[in-house]
Amino acid sequence: MKIVLFDIDGTLLWTDGAGRRAVHQALEFVFGSSVPENHEFDGKTDPQIVRELMQRVGTSDDVIEARLTETLSRYVELLLGELAQADYAGNVYPGIPSLLDALEARDDVLLGLLTGNVREGATAKLSAVGIARDRFKVGAFGSDNASRPELPAIARRQAEELLGHPVRGNDVVVIGDTPADMRCGLGIGARAIGVATGRYSVEELQACRTGVVFADLSDTVAVMRAIIGD
Ligand SMILES: [Mg+2]
Repeated sequence: MKIVLFDIDGTLLWTDGAGRRAVHQALEFVFGSSVPENHEFDGKTDPQIVRELMQRVGTSDDVIEARLTETLSRYVELLLGELAQADYAGNVYPGIPSLLDALEARDDVLLGLLTGNVREGATAKLSAVGIARDRFKVGAFGSDNASRPELPAIARRQAEELLGHPVRGNDVVVIGDTPADMRCGLGIGARAIGVATGRYSVEELQACRTGVVFADLSDTVAVMRAIIGD
């Protein structure tokens, strides 16, 4: 049994900056200060992004921690508003619908999510592009832990509970578009598959040396072979 964990932004879909706009608006609303435009979000969890941005404008850690929950729930409200303002139905990367269908059709694959998005943000983005959230039977989110390397073990534990037997790290496959995705599974011995549909190139992802990298996931047969492996 393979546990196949997909990242969301840059891997399954894109939201034309709706996520970034919602984070900025939430921070301005809760902390009353505007935040730097040039901050790198890719591969990071939502709570990590909030902490880093507020640290950059000099907010003390105890103030950030005291307002983190409020900021993230405000963010989800604003994200829903942003996503309602345009049609995101076409914002799915090449090959994703066929790949999800092919994986779902197998009885030796358990589909899941591994994303820095808070749980409600993940649901909102998937629903905006028309991917049913309940296709993913397990999920580890930025709201479960702010540190991405902690997320694979969370998803594996859920899979073990669902399946009723232990899951080897080697049977967990993390699919994502950043070096952080490529490396986060090392702690449990998971395999990684990189996809260069986000901001990182094939070469940059290959430099992580943790798994196969594709330009996109449109070659369903080749990607399935990489996932199912040996
Ligand atoms: Mg991503």
